[in-house]
Amino acid sequence: MGFLNDGGQAHDQCVVGLIFAKVMKNLIYLDAHATTPVDEKVLSAMLPYFTDHYGNGNHKMGWKTNEALENSRAQLAQFLGARPSEITFTSGATEAINLGLLGLAQNTTGNRVHIITQRTEHKAVLECLKHLEGKGFEVTVLNVDKVGRIDLEELRQLITERTLMVAIMLANNEIGTVQPIEEIGELCRRKGAKFFCDITQGVGWYPLDMGKLKVDMAAMSAHKFYGPRGVGALYVRKSGPEKTIQPILFGGGQEKEIRPGTHNIPAIVGMGKACELLSDEGMETYEKVRLLRDRLKTNLFNSIPKITLLGCPTNRHPGNLSLAIPSITGEQLKELMPTILFSTSSACASASTGTSHVISALEVTKDIQKSVFRIGISKNNTKEEIDYVANKMVKVVGKLLPLNR
Ligand code: PLP
Repeated sequence: MGFLNDGGQAHDQCVVGLIFAKVMKNLIYLDAHATTPVDEKVLSAMLPYFTDHYGNGNHKMGWKTNEALENSRAQLAQFLGARPSEITFTSGATEAINLGLLGLAQNTTGNRVHIITQRTEHKAVLECLKHLEGKGFEVTVLNVDKVGRIDLEELRQLITERTLMVAIMLANNEIGTVQPIEEIGELCRRKGAKFFCDITQGVGWYPLDMGKLKVDMAAMSAHKFYGPRGVGALYVRKSGPEKTIQPILFGGGQEKEIRPGTHNIPAIVGMGKACELLSDEGMETYEKVRLLRDRLKTNLFNSIPKITLLGCPTNRHPGNLSLAIPSITGEQLKELMPTILFSTSSACASASTGTSHVISALEVTKDIQKSVFRIGISKNNTKEEIDYVANKMVKVVGKLLPLNR
């Protein structure tokens, strides 16, 4: 059936498309911890690598893509204060975490079989370490305090000559709490344990100079900092001629045989460009996002009784608000504010408890657990959006509170 003779289907699709576009335009996206929009400059840098420079072999077109690959590696290395040879491209943070944790464990000899982590790590870390526990490693999971920080003194006492690594994240993806990574690195170094840091939520928000930080391995995903999905990287400090990690995939030998498989060049180019933009825009974006976050927080706290902030009030991701309004569930808020996109704790919940493992670790009341929702502000949000959200939420809460009592 042709376009002009399709029984009206094309027209209907067009109308649906227009309505959808209009609805999308009116949406306010406040879920930047889940993913961020690709920056237009990142997209422009990527496009030629889909259409023009797609070669993959030992010829002119292949050389061009190889040049782009190494250029992105150099951009990433420069951004992290690392050497290009210390960067391995992966499909994202999950894969980088698996490669770092399993790759190091496979490489260990002697009696370094003890691993330390903490309760609010991302599931990619916790599940990997559960797997290693099943293989005979001893895993200690530290508790956190009420705002999600580990106890450094407890960590100091636990690290011994048997500790292979400490896996502790930079910024938490749900509650925004930032862990004291300088001090953790220092403690690890003293005992010869490796420090693995999931920096996925910290890229762009925290000075990440690997030359200064005592981080031995770090994992990240480009889509958390205005790059594309499906690409990430593992940083592994090179401290001598020997390899720190072994591969967990086997194949064609790419990435120095540590991570084989045909490179996703457009995405890698996008990740390099996203890092370059972070270097250029860094502090400006940080300040903009922090001010928007604080504006929203002040407006909500001035008008909503008993609203509670979860996570650390001081050492915190600048775009994060993890909030709870007792007796109102996150789901109710979502339902009554359908054009405002944010996340509820149940989105990250375990099937058995209905609460995310991060919120459970804070040991807050059941009422708070049910109420938690997460706002993640990005550089694309505006003051107008933030004020609209504050007004709308205050109104909705004003209606819900008397009904829920
Ligand atoms: N680590 C943290 C802290 C995250 O927030 C995420 C994603 O939400 C990941 C790891 C996994 O990232 P990806 O799903 O891009 O592999």
